[in-house]
Amino acid sequence: VEFQAADEKDRATLERVAREAVGGLQLLEAARFTHDAAEQSLLWRIRQGLYPSVGAARKRGTTVIIEDVVFPVQSLADATVALIRTAGRHGYDEAILFGHAKDGNLHLTITQSYNTQADADRYARFMDDLVRLVVRQYDGALKGEHGTGRNMAPFVETEWGPEAYAIMQHLKGLADPDGLLNPGVILNPDPKAFLADLKTLPEIEEEVDKCIECGYCESTCPSQDLTLTPRQRIVVRREMTRLRESNADPALATALEADFPYMALDTCAADGLCATACPVGIDVGDLTKRFRRLRHPEWAQEFARHLAERFAWLEPSARLGLRLGHAVQSLLGAGAMVGVTRAIRSVIGQPFPQWSPEMPRPASGRAPATQKSGASAVYFPACISRTMGHLPGEPDSMSLMEALVAVARRAGRPVWIPDDVDGTCCGVPFSSKGYDRAHAVAANRAVARFWEWSEEGRLPIVIDTSPCTYGLNACRPVLTSVNQARFDRLAILDSVAFVHDEILPRLTVRRRYRSVALHPVCSVVKMNLTGKLEAIARWCCDRVTVPESAGCCGFAGDRGFLFPELTGAATEREAAEILSAPHDGYYSSSRTCEIGMTRATGRIYRSYLYLLEQATRE
Ligand code: SF4
Ligand code: SF4
Repeated sequence: VEFQAADEKDRATLERVAREAVGGLQLLEAARFTHDAAEQSLLWRIRQGLYPSVGAARKRGTTVIIEDVVFPVQSLADATVALIRTAGRHGYDEAILFGHAKDGNLHLTITQSYNTQADADRYARFMDDLVRLVVRQYDGALKGEHGTGRNMAPFVETEWGPEAYAIMQHLKGLADPDGLLNPGVILNPDPKAFLADLKTLPEIEEEVDKCIECGYCESTCPSQDLTLTPRQRIVVRREMTRLRESNADPALATALEADFPYMALDTCAADGLCATACPVGIDVGDLTKRFRRLRHPEWAQEFARHLAERFAWLEPSARLGLRLGHAVQSLLGAGAMVGVTRAIRSVIGQPFPQWSPEMPRPASGRAPATQKSGASAVYFPACISRTMGHLPGEPDSMSLMEALVAVARRAGRPVWIPDDVDGTCCGVPFSSKGYDRAHAVAANRAVARFWEWSEEGRLPIVIDTSPCTYGLNACRPVLTSVNQARFDRLAILDSVAFVHDEILPRLTVRRRYRSVALHPVCSVVKMNLTGKLEAIARWCCDRVTVPESAGCCGFAGDRGFLFPELTGAATEREAAEILSAPHDGYYSSSRTCEIGMTRATGRIYRSYLYLLEQATRE
């Protein structure tokens, strides 16, 4: 129970009264109040997760129903007991209740199957008893804060009486003589309407079958304003299954199947942010990867595996591509390369990486000199840092590797870059596209090398690109048993965590900045490192801004090159916030996300390591 008051004095009074009220109760745990914001937020998450959790635990083939009844507050305790008994009497042992006690409003959540007549009859008997309990026995209301949908529409007359109901019908008839507005909802003459046209939740793919379409995930999704939200992806997929199974509307089924690849798959960043908001932990990106996997023919999987095995060849090729692109751009202008890549895309009829003026220059490919002896950690520069260098207009006196090596040395915690990092990749570029075999090859090789470099886990591995750190920490399922045993003894750290915990306490700030803006990338959010990233920035700056609307930029490694409209839509709000105030610098922890944010804002985003290096430079 949460108590709120206008001021601290009233709140304390409420707390005292509540303590006295629960004093004599027999509780599973002693009642206590918390004033800790983090604990309160956790309790609210549990509260918000009650409904989806029932949905997630439901039997296959059943659906979840949430009702919204109200009792006079003075009868709430008795009515609550009666309601639980009513549900139990009809066999709804899984029913849960939560709500808004001060309003007498209870949300009853049950799971229901409509597969047999007996199932439907049981539900009908329960609804009759529920309505009788609320309306007749306790003089309550059938709706509190939710709308009167088809489930309660047949009982509106019971609640309000025939006279009031007739007036409602008359008014509706005046406003909507042809019954076009939301037919069957609120007013429905069919006494069995609550058993008709039921929406089923057919089984589709196991990654998302638990979804109860609550929508908590929607605001996290970078494609919400472009194509579909995570919930909509699942809803569409279910509709496709329903239509195919029932053969009800073949034309609609065909249209949905035609649109699904772009709307649901191509424009999913597979960043998994939806899972951070989903009460039952559904990552719609897993569904996307499943379909991407299924799209690849055998030869494509094998080709990707060969590429992963020869990854060392790809890095110089990527650097050469960037060098050539910039050469063309400087000779013929930015539009030339954009035109070339668009032309290739239209000729091959497939998504092809699109050039844009803020493409980075190639990295030098040379690592700064470091020593293993005395190193506090192994520094593994991600392949993206080894390939992509500075953005046009970005200061280029120091590479990302040099920045991390410099701050670590300054702090007396030097890092060591092994000589043979070339060809080592976290595998995320493959897994995000559904190339499982290639992912397994890359991840196994990375872990085997980490094992050797770290002297069998003695030294931590530090990675400068957050999505790669996240990907490597999640790769255990694709590892061989030997590598799983190694993995379990490795410490694979994101540079944000390493710098915050090991480097920052040993550095002296020489130069403070007035204001910087941060873009915490999805993997920083998922690894719970946003606070540490902010702390590093605050240590160097008076004012640190993380935009309210900061979220996934949708770049996702290569989506931003293949489907730039995804990044454009995903960053629109954050870019507007960023541009509303000037900052001395713009920082993040992943080069591709920095490209996306630079493209969106026209401000150059770079690694926070440069900020730290400059702030601590003698
Ligand atoms: S995937 Fe989205 S809609 Fe489905 S249960 Fe999770 S939060 Fe709710
Ligand atoms: S993985 Fe990301 S882009 Fe895909 S549905 Fe989830 S939040 Fe949206």
